[in-house]
Amino acid sequence: MKGQCLCRSVTIEVENAPEFINICNCRLCRKLGSAWGYYLPQAITLSGATTAYSRDDLGYQAGCETHFCTNCGTSTHFVVTHPDHEGVGVNTRLFEQETLQGIAVHYYDTRSRNSPEDQPERTGEGTIGDGHSF
Ligand SMILES: [Zn+2]
Ligand SMILES: [Zn+2]
Repeated sequence: MKGQCLCRSVTIEVENAPEFINICNCRLCRKLGSAWGYYLPQAITLSGATTAYSRDDLGYQAGCETHFCTNCGTSTHFVVTHPDHEGVGVNTRLFEQETLQGIAVHYYDTRSRNSPEDQPERTGEGTIGDGHSF
């Protein structure tokens, strides 16, 4: 399946639909407005120009580079840059909603946790197409 940014100059292609989609209320996720699906780096094909941003102000999400369309600014994906981990989070909002029909959506309250080491609490469940905005 193929997803595109608002201006369509960035395309991300994946063979399989995401197993689930995470929506999280941490500062990074809220500012980016993204709903993440997770892949190994070799499972995505990216075309078009993106700009990467790495924030270094917070320890717990360091090791993550967020990418945006250079032209329209749409958040396209993030890349884990931690030496011991690999992974890519694709903004599943790039894909047409119809192509994601029925996929589970997990809502996480990451903001309320006491320490960056704590696992965030899953506070909600949904599915794409259940009538909630996506
Ligand atoms: Zn764009
Ligand atoms: Zn988050």
